[in-house]
Amino acid sequence: METLFIIDTVSHKELIDITYQVEDIIHKSNIKAGFCIVYIPHATAGIILNESADPNIKTDFLNAINKAIPEHNNYLHDRIDNNAAAHIKSALCGSSATIPISNGKLELGTWQSIMLCEFDGPRTRKIIVQVYQSNV
Ligand code: ZN
Repeated sequence: METLFIIDTVSHKELIDITYQVEDIIHKSNIKAGFCIVYIPHATAGIILNESADPNIKTDFLNAINKAIPEHNNYLHDRIDNNAAAHIKSALCGSSATIPISNGKLELGTWQSIMLCEFDGPRTRKIIVQVYQSNV
């Protein structure tokens, strides 16, 4: 089963918790055991699993990744559309997460959330969720 939802980001760089939207899809799928893939088909955004209960983690994450990959650092791609840093951050974060489902729920750790990473916003982002049922 595949479904998708849209998130309109509001900042140039931000982390957005999308756990609720994915949980809603799992609930509606009625699949009790299996796994899901959460995938973002964009080259300047990413998907990560991390804590969002403390919003400082989002700020710390963005500060750290912005320090590691500064904007406009003589990147060749900046000559084309001026967003090379966003592409590099997207590649490092990855574009998907695979999460087991048990008893109809995502098997996330207590402090884990699914987050969309926006690195070149604001933009309209599509998130694809595929849910698979296991045979057990
Ligand atoms: Zn580009």
